[in-house]
Amino acid sequence: MVQTSDLKVEKLFSVKDYVCVITGGGSGIGLMAAQALAANGAKVYIIGRREEALKKAAESHSPTDSGNGQIIPLTPCDVTSKDDLEKCVKAFSEKEDHLDLLLTAAGITSTKAAPDTEDAGDLKAKLWDNETFEDWRNTYNTDVAAVYFSTVAFLPLLQAATKKRGHLHASVIVISSMSGIMRDSQGHFSYNAAKGGTVHLTKLMSAEFQKIRVRVNSIAPGYFPSEMTTSESGGDQKSELPAEKIQEKGHVPAQRAGSDEEMAQAVLFLTKNLYVNGEILAVDGGVLNVVGGR
Ligand code: NDP
Repeated sequence: MVQTSDLKVEKLFSVKDYVCVITGGGSGIGLMAAQALAANGAKVYIIGRREEALKKAAESHSPTDSGNGQIIPLTPCDVTSKDDLEKCVKAFSEKEDHLDLLLTAAGITSTKAAPDTEDAGDLKAKLWDNETFEDWRNTYNTDVAAVYFSTVAFLPLLQAATKKRGHLHASVIVISSMSGIMRDSQGHFSYNAAKGGTVHLTKLMSAEFQKIRVRVNSIAPGYFPSEMTTSESGGDQKSELPAEKIQEKGHVPAQRAGSDEEMAQAVLFLTKNLYVNGEILAVDGGVLNVVGGR
């Protein structure tokens, strides 16, 4: 029987000795997730294209207190390349024999083309002239196809963790977006359509991969500070998103960006609750209560 003391936060959410990989772990939401997992005992390998960003992120944020986890740059990797993904899996396999959690945060946004006119001729011109097939392809490639191939690449190592630690232990957390749920283009049809694909891909992978005892869930963030949302980061790879910028949008009930702590709570919940599978968890400050779609 469970004792009351078994339900302490540190027991429920400990990821001590977990081995994790985070794509896009060198900045923004991926780095927040890396910090959350490492702070609670996990060994977290981060990947991305820029080696320098990975190094700076690990140097600045790997826990220094003994007994805690680590943030480790794995290898530079473009997740849209199968060759790079295979090299990445090989580099990981030289260090570890299983993977408890894969979190896919690598993602890009697309060019803006706001449908903000009621004249059909103007509307056509704006959308036609400002967007390209190439931009649609790049966005879909990184935000959907690369999430799929990153997950597929690590499946045997995820299954190895389940075999080691028990039924549905290993999991994948896909960072999708509230943009993939809402019925508002936010001025970038291609990004929101791609993120809709990311959301559905999560559901498909969850249903298919439970056969090999791997869970797949998604976090659909609202506005969080990152290189994507602020176009920059500091020497420690962190970004700032002031509350006024969020208030200007006029559709964020929380009136501010999401915090590192709020992202950490979502990551730890989906990592540790083995009874959750196929869930799309919006952490959006209430935006989807205001903007239709859910
Ligand atoms: P960042 O730009 O800070 O993070 C994205 C990371 O992905 C970067 O570290 C980047 O590193 C990496 N990356 C991009 N393309 C590739 C690639 N081809 N191969 C490997 N790594 C890649 O932005 P966010 O933290 O905001 O983005 C993380 C995820 O969160 C994205 O999927 C985004 O769509 C999603 N999201 C973000 C929201 C927000 O408000 N911040 C809201 C909703 C969703 P590098 O350039 O070195 O490769």
